[in-house]
Amino acid sequence: MLKKLWHDPVWSKVIAAAIVAASATLASYLFGWLPTIWNWSLPGFVFLGSTKPVPRWLLLILLVLAVMTFSRWIGAFRRVPNIQPWRRYTKDTFYGWVWRWEYDGAGEPCDLRSYCPECDFELTDYFGTDWSDQYSSQNACPDCHKQIQPLGDKQQVRAKVNGKIEQNIRSRYGVKI
Ligand SMILES: [Zn+2]
Repeated sequence: MLKKLWHDPVWSKVIAAAIVAASATLASYLFGWLPTIWNWSLPGFVFLGSTKPVPRWLLLILLVLAVMTFSRWIGAFRRVPNIQPWRRYTKDTFYGWVWRWEYDGAGEPCDLRSYCPECDFELTDYFGTDWSDQYSSQNACPDCHKQIQPLGDKQQVRAKVNGKIEQNIRSRYGVKI
């Protein structure tokens, strides 16, 4: 509503005039108060300008307080986001193969990938990308030719690995997952 009025050529001028009038009134009101404010703050200025000696113990306390405050600020800036330790568990060896994974927002393992235990060559989709594919019926790493334990049905193997990951999180980190 106000936005619409503001874009109206006539109303925008009226609103602008009202704002100027209000600011002028406020300014003149504040100017009226200036002498009073000055009188109140004058002792403060005199105090700030004086060179009276300050006890050293007071200086020391102020210095300690300043250092404490400053180091807290630094600490607040440097604080890294708190990641639960189990979320760093993203690699392990199961059934003779190396596995890596991530966690989704709910904390479930996802993006499961498999690797050669000898040379770390990624084998995730090497023996087929479909769920119905078998996991390595060929039994050899295409890169280093190491004989790898055949795992069988892909979907079943991945479900079993998922189960092992969650089992380890529960037993090692005491997290219910
Ligand atoms: Zn290999």
